[in-house]
Amino acid sequence: MPEGHSIHRLARAITAAFGDTRVRLSSPQGRFAEEAAQLDGWHLHPADAFGKHLFLPFSPDADTDPTLFVHIHLGLYGSWTFAGDEDFATAHAIGAPRNRIHEEGTDWRLIQPGQNVRLRITGHHGLADLTGPNQCRIIDSAGRAEVTARLGPDPLRADADPDVFVDVVKRSRTTIGALLMNQQVVAGIGNIYRAELLFRARLDPTVPGRDLSRPAIRAIWDDLVPLIRYGRRTGRIVTTQPEHRAIHAAIQERSVPTYQNDDDHPDAVPREESFYVYHRQNLPCRICDATIRTAMVQGRTVFWCPRCQRRRVNAARWILDHPAGPWADPEGAV
Ligand SMILES: [Zn+2]
Repeated sequence: MPEGHSIHRLARAITAAFGDTRVRLSSPQGRFAEEAAQLDGWHLHPADAFGKHLFLPFSPDADTDPTLFVHIHLGLYGSWTFAGDEDFATAHAIGAPRNRIHEEGTDWRLIQPGQNVRLRITGHHGLADLTGPNQCRIIDSAGRAEVTARLGPDPLRADADPDVFVDVVKRSRTTIGALLMNQQVVAGIGNIYRAELLFRARLDPTVPGRDLSRPAIRAIWDDLVPLIRYGRRTGRIVTTQPEHRAIHAAIQERSVPTYQNDDDHPDAVPREESFYVYHRQNLPCRICDATIRTAMVQGRTVFWCPRCQRRRVNAARWILDHPAGPWADPEGAV
C-alpha cells in the first residue's frame, strides 16, 4: 500500500498536470459514471493529501471555492497512470507511482482506457487514469471534514500538531508498533516507516505507548518528519544512514518486488541499502549482526532486530545523537 509520501506526491502531480483548470471526467469502467458526469467540465483546484487520503476539490467555475471533492483512497491495489504531451512532462517527472502509459510518439488523446479505469481525468495536455481504488466517491466540505477528523496529524502537512501524536501515544496501552500503523494516531505511516522508525529509535515494537517518555515519543515524530519529506521529494523511502548502507547490503525480495519511484535513477540508493529491517528477515542486522526477525501483528508483518531493539523506555538517545540524520530538508518546505 502506498504510504503517505506517495499520496502527497500524487497530489502534487495532479496539481501540476491539471490544477486550476477545467477538466473532463469519465468512468470507462462505469462504476463512477454518474459522479463523473456530475463534475464533468468543472474546475479542478489544487489537489490535497491528508495521510493516505487524496482530495480533488472541484467548483463549477474558477472564481468560486471548491464545493465538492473527489475523495480517493488507493488501498492495496489502487494506482494512477499518466500520459500527455510535452507540456505535461512535469507531471511525469515528479512522478506518480506505478506505470506510465505515455510512449514516445504516441498521441495521448488516442490512448484507450482499460476496462478497469474507475476515473479518467482529461485536461488540455494530458490525462490521468485511476484504477483499483479502495475508495472513490464525491463528498462535500462537511464530508471532507469528517474524513480528516478521524485522522491523526500528518507529518507532511503544515497544520500537523506533534503534541497530538505525543498525547495519544502517551495515554495508550497499545504497543508502539501498533500505534504507528494506526491512522488515527499518525496519518500516512505504513509498514516500512513503522519498522524503520522503531529500529532507528532502538525500540522494542511491543512496548506500550504509555511506557515511553514524552521526549522519546516526540523524538520518533522528529525523526519521521525529515524521513517522510525525503520520501515526498524523491518518491523513495530511504532510512539508512550513509555509513551503514554498505554493511550487509541485502534485502529479501518478494516474488514481485516492491517498486519505488525511479529505482533505475543513477543517484537512487539501491533497495538493498535503503532499509535497516524492512524485508530483511533472516538477514544479519547492519549494526549488530543479529538475525532480523518478523512477527505478525494485527495482520501485518513487523520486522525488528531482537538485539538492537531491546529498549523499552526512553529510547530516544540514539535519535537525539543523530538529529535529522542526513535528511534535513534543504528547502525547509512542508
Ligand atoms: Zn541489530
